[in-house]
Amino acid sequence: LEQLKTLPKIELHAHLSGSVRYSTILRLLNEELASDYHETSDEKLKSEIQLMEELKSKPTTNCTSHRSLTECFQIFTILHRLLSNLNILEQVTNEILHDFQSDNCVYLELRTTPRNIFDSKTGELKVSKEQYLKTVVNVIESFEKENLMKVRLILSVDRAKGLQDGLENVELAKKFKSKHVIGIDFSGNPHVDSFQNYESLFQLCDSYELKTTVHIAEIWEDKDVDFILKKIRPDRIGHSVCLTKEQIDYLIRNPIPIEICPTSNLVTKCVDVIENHPFYEFYTKKDTYPLVICTDDFGIFDTSLSREYSLISTAFNLSFKEMFDLSRRSIKCIFDQSNELVSFLEMVFNEFEKKNF
Ligand code: 5GP
Repeated sequence: LEQLKTLPKIELHAHLSGSVRYSTILRLLNEELASDYHETSDEKLKSEIQLMEELKSKPTTNCTSHRSLTECFQIFTILHRLLSNLNILEQVTNEILHDFQSDNCVYLELRTTPRNIFDSKTGELKVSKEQYLKTVVNVIESFEKENLMKVRLILSVDRAKGLQDGLENVELAKKFKSKHVIGIDFSGNPHVDSFQNYESLFQLCDSYELKTTVHIAEIWEDKDVDFILKKIRPDRIGHSVCLTKEQIDYLIRNPIPIEICPTSNLVTKCVDVIENHPFYEFYTKKDTYPLVICTDDFGIFDTSLSREYSLISTAFNLSFKEMFDLSRRSIKCIFDQSNELVSFLEMVFNEFEKKNF
């Protein structure tokens, strides 16, 4: 793990709310409990703290005691309540960027679902989606002035929130295109609705020249897989674990870069053990298949990008050099293919190669 920490890395699948530091989530929950007024009952808050503590203590190599995806989605509801003012949003975003950078991430595509935030007592709009987005963009801009890691933003469309809400996010992405926003992520609870109802949004993204990535095959009942792989053909796909043999063969013949999220897939029971992750099938059947190792939600899963690299390297017996090559190949999958950025990343990887191999 220590050696993998030194590796330059690229993160392309990290949700902002899920990447709030584990210790910060606990601190915010405890602060809420200690405050004079909180609308959530003491009992509920205590059970939420317990839920977070249990999540941390779960082993991540045996699926039988893990949380279902539905349980994980309950945690996002808690996180969204905790991140309900712009100061906290600013603080946690800043922490997330620093955490990735200290793990030697050199390029990060962070994603988030812009949210209107309402006052829980009066029902008044406290924060608009645009204010939410501006806050995140401002943090990224200040961070980039003082740090080496480059950051871009992807806006998420939550399949559970309906087409109108998604349309607003795509329009916002278009408006903020020159301000670090480069694409759209289609995510949200896979048990709710279907991406087939979002076809018009995929077309809109194309017409706005926004890159797209779609969460697929997180559950075996996912009916959208063929529609996404054959009809939509997004720029990348996330997870892509619960695939049939035909779907894997189809992808090998017609590759779409895959964002691989090992711990997330274990915790949410997509795979029982990491050795059964389809990563290896793609990796061995086609040595140039574009595969990018990612964290998904490093805060709630209490992991790091290096730790995800370590899981893959240990499970499939990949050497440090093979992990380096895998990491370098991620450059081809980033959404911002501007010459300046690609040359910067190539330089970072070339220098590391010269020094280490
Ligand atoms: P946010 O968009 O609030 O920054 O990050 C949390 C949101 O990302 C969740 O509400 C959910 O819509 C999405 N998300 C995070 N992790 C996952 C995941 O593993 N699978 C899916 N389908 N969506 C996720």
